[in-house]
Amino acid sequence: MPEATRELVLVGGGHAHVQVLRRFAMDPPPGLRVTLVVDRPVAVYSGMVPGFVAGQYRADELEIDVRPLAKRAGARVVVSAATGIDPEARRIRLHDRPALAYDWAAFDVGSTVAGGALPGVAEHALPTRPIGDFVARVDALVERASRSSRIAVVGAGAGGVELAFALRARTGAEVVLVDAGPRILPERSESLARRAARHARAAGIELRLGARVEAVEDGALRLAGAEALACDAVVWVAGAAAGPLFRDSGLPTDAAGFLRVGPTLQVVGHPELFAAGDCASLDGHALPKAGVYAVRAGPVLEDNLRRVAAGREPRAWRPQRDYLVLLNTADGAALGEKWGIAFGGRRVFDGKDRIDRRFVERFQVLGDDGAPRPGFPEMAGMDADEMPCGGCAAKVGAAALAEAPGRLPPADDPAVVMGLGAPDDAAAVATPRGDLVVASLDAFRAFTDDPWLVGRVAAVNAASDLWAKGVAPRFALAQVQVPDAESDRADEVLWQVLAGARAAFDPEGVTLVGGHSTTGPDLQVGFAVQGFGEGPDSLLRQGGLRPGDRLLLTKPLGTGVLLHADMRGLARGPWIEAAVASMLRSNAAAARVARAHGASAATDVSGFGLAGHLLEMLRAAKASARLGLGAVPLLPGAASLLARGLRSTFHAQNEEGQAAGAVVDTEAACPEELAALFDPQTSGGLLLGVPADRADAALDSLHAAGDAAATCIGEVVPAETGEARLVVGA
Ligand SMILES: Cc1cc2nc3c(=O)[nH]c(=O)nc-3n(C[C@H](O)[C@H](O)[C@H](O)COP(=O)(O)OP(=O)(O)OC[C@H]3O[C@@H](n4cnc5c(N)ncnc54)[C@H](O)[C@@H]3O)c2cc1C
Repeated sequence: MPEATRELVLVGGGHAHVQVLRRFAMDPPPGLRVTLVVDRPVAVYSGMVPGFVAGQYRADELEIDVRPLAKRAGARVVVSAATGIDPEARRIRLHDRPALAYDWAAFDVGSTVAGGALPGVAEHALPTRPIGDFVARVDALVERASRSSRIAVVGAGAGGVELAFALRARTGAEVVLVDAGPRILPERSESLARRAARHARAAGIELRLGARVEAVEDGALRLAGAEALACDAVVWVAGAAAGPLFRDSGLPTDAAGFLRVGPTLQVVGHPELFAAGDCASLDGHALPKAGVYAVRAGPVLEDNLRRVAAGREPRAWRPQRDYLVLLNTADGAALGEKWGIAFGGRRVFDGKDRIDRRFVERFQVLGDDGAPRPGFPEMAGMDADEMPCGGCAAKVGAAALAEAPGRLPPADDPAVVMGLGAPDDAAAVATPRGDLVVASLDAFRAFTDDPWLVGRVAAVNAASDLWAKGVAPRFALAQVQVPDAESDRADEVLWQVLAGARAAFDPEGVTLVGGHSTTGPDLQVGFAVQGFGEGPDSLLRQGGLRPGDRLLLTKPLGTGVLLHADMRGLARGPWIEAAVASMLRSNAAAARVARAHGASAATDVSGFGLAGHLLEMLRAAKASARLGLGAVPLLPGAASLLARGLRSTFHAQNEEGQAAGAVVDTEAACPEELAALFDPQTSGGLLLGVPADRADAALDSLHAAGDAAATCIGEVVPAETGEARLVVGA
């Protein structure tokens, strides 16, 4: 029996959890399987946000891509918002997928902005929380502010004061800082508040204190007493409020809704749960909602998680009574205060800049282009040979597939309409009633450690074989191999896989009717799918291409190299999100468009890569094709990884196998674009042949149906030498 592992779920990618992950990467905790749940793959370091608004930093300088960080820590990453907790069942409920089981869980989900429910705030103001959304909208805000005569910043705490300075410096617009209280920076000393107020006035910032905002309207703030304060844009930074996560959980919260924790950061009455940062309320302390406390709690949280997992007593945290506050005034200087003593100047900004950059860089595993940054520990087992790729990159080579059935005696069966005699994406047999049963089986080794996602992608991928023949799948049977190492929770793994499959099948009217399970060294998932066709002529075939047909590809390429890089902690989180979204996109709509526009041929692009699958079509049609490499769409990050020399473990077989000699490079094409043709795709798009005069209309329909990356990549030409060739140009 494998050693029992316990489940630790970290919810949120805040300042405390990134430290837990970094420390786990340095020294993995034995016997713990760690899952990180984040609502977005990139966390933002708020301390640099005002500097970003002021134009002093690029977005990537304040972002922490938590996916590669988590991967280095051996953690599974689930990108989904946690929506609730069931402490009895010990499960975290998620926005768009089944709840996750835990033995221990920790929360570092931050806070939301106070007053967000006031009339007009959602419609007319830009809240600073979620801070990732705020950062994404800063360019638009700056653009708008530059055309505005007046911007209002509501909330004169540290964040509001800094944003007022930043907007004033960046846009030159009038800025008014509004607060209900009698002075700015109510949580800090009078001396800092006086100094900051002087500095603000000198910078041309208007202070409206004692002014309670009751509503936001288009073009004005409505203040208590019915006064209207005209403004063209509103930034809402009115303090921290508790998010909804703990609301109906039955867990103890303080009067404001923050989760109550004791000195060990364990939730009061729930030693299996931990919380840190803004979302936690430490009993006996009235800590301000400042990132510095989340940062300081991080090492204690990590130590205590390690301790409880090892059966040891957790230790108590004594938060510092005061902390150094540094306010960026966006003019190359900063103001600071500790223990009631205020100071300021350029050297204060230099110090803040150094502290902030050093903090963020500790968690930035990869550069913006995906290149690993020096100084971060490599992942154990990063050697590509030790990590064969999963998904459709885990295949038997094309040559073996072509040869093996030919060594069997032919099985003549008049009922077979599509079979081994002329292999296609699916098989079709005539029923005694004269219609067709169209069937396919597709299975693969897991490409990631998230069984729900593997199940869902495997289902989309299996259904794709039928869609490529223009047939709607109707029934499915599952084949699941549960890893030996997870036999202690086989029911959970199986349930997650099947729930993922249902998430793909149900919306398309595919009924999962049965299946078979085994155990083995790794997770393998596949589905046999069946649908009905009207007759032999109703099927789209691989071999129907005719010279002059345009070749349309409905999804971008690159899942092979991206999943390969992800296994090794070398892929950026947003890249994998884009790849996952592409793999989860059903080919149903594309198949309907193909039929409606008289497609001559179709296949789905999977493990043999675009070149391999296109050559299959060309050989069946005895034709060649010309491809414009520049037109072939790639997923974000794919070109960068290919240019750095990364390749899926199945890539070489694709390049050297059936494509060898058949791909003719006429113009010394860009190497990464050429390499993308051999990248094995998991749940790739459809490759369609469409008559030239209908190609534009077909593309318009594909885009309208949601296949935004669909594009024409080339055309079919006669096979001049008699042999199918793929002639590629720039
Ligand atoms: C403009 C501005 C400037 C600031 N400057 C400073 C400063 O200079 N110094 C300072 O000490 N404090 C500063 N603060 C306050 C600081 O931002 C917070 O105190 C700090 O971010 C709290 O850290 P945290 O780890 O609790 O949560 P956060 O940093 O907010 O992280 C929470 C994480 O959880 C994720 N998450 C949230 N909800 C869910 C969910 N339901 N499911 C899954 N994941 C979820 C989020 O995406 C995020 O990654 C500033 C605040 C603002 C608005």
